[in-house]
Amino acid sequence: MKIHVLGTGHALALNNYNTCFVIEEQGKYMLVDAGGGNGIVKRLQLANLKLEEIDYAFCTHNHTDHVLGFAWIMRMNFHLYKSGKRKNPFTVYGSKDCLDAIKTIAKITLGDYAAGFLDNIILFKEVKNGEKINILGVNFEFFDTFAVDIPQLGFYIQEKDLAFCGDVPLNERYFEKFKNINYLCLEGLCSVTELKGGFRNKHFPIKNAAEVAENIRAKNLIIWHTADRLPNRAELYTQEAKSVYSGNVFVPNDLDVIDIG
Ligand SMILES: [Zn+2]
Repeated sequence: MKIHVLGTGHALALNNYNTCFVIEEQGKYMLVDAGGGNGIVKRLQLANLKLEEIDYAFCTHNHTDHVLGFAWIMRMNFHLYKSGKRKNPFTVYGSKDCLDAIKTIAKITLGDYAAGFLDNIILFKEVKNGEKINILGVNFEFFDTFAVDIPQLGFYIQEKDLAFCGDVPLNERYFEKFKNINYLCLEGLCSVTELKGGFRNKHFPIKNAAEVAENIRAKNLIIWHTADRLPNRAELYTQEAKSVYSGNVFVPNDLDVIDIG
């Protein structure tokens, strides 16, 4: 399994694209979130990924930096469908809220074209907290991240022992469930020093995210949804994480590819 990192930024990042990625498994692909704009189109191109080969997507929640890029994914899919390049349906997984939002955006922006296209080519599949679904030939378990403002789902991939915990701190009720996990994917907004410079603290600084990973003895920690003010953020954030965490730390840059094995 490979993770093609399309974006690593938090909601207001300007130098990096918003956090989203493509999971590749046995020649099949799933997009996780789409960022907040048409940067998704460029990121897919730069990552050498063809949307017509990506048949699955998952949207974690309805914030701008995760859902609005789907306007472009729908538009591109429409062109692929009309030109005959999209052979398979495109299945979007998410909460009812997310699916309603993506449908509404697509209907508004595609106008009269939306009807047949959305009904026949785009399949919307609602997922709920605790639901297990086989996608890409592996077992995904979706879970509520207990975000404070709007509902958000993360997921656990059983075969890889990997949890993607969305863009909020890992809720304590998962500490036991994810104890000794192989891959823990967490948000970490910025360094402790930067946090004092005025970031909202709904998100954890890197150090706190790494302390959680140490606490539950995660073997590998992937940190994203980060600030992008500092050109050497990956090195700085890795250092800060390693100061409190003894496992492997990955602070990816946009377009990195992470080999999960
Ligand atoms: Zn976000």
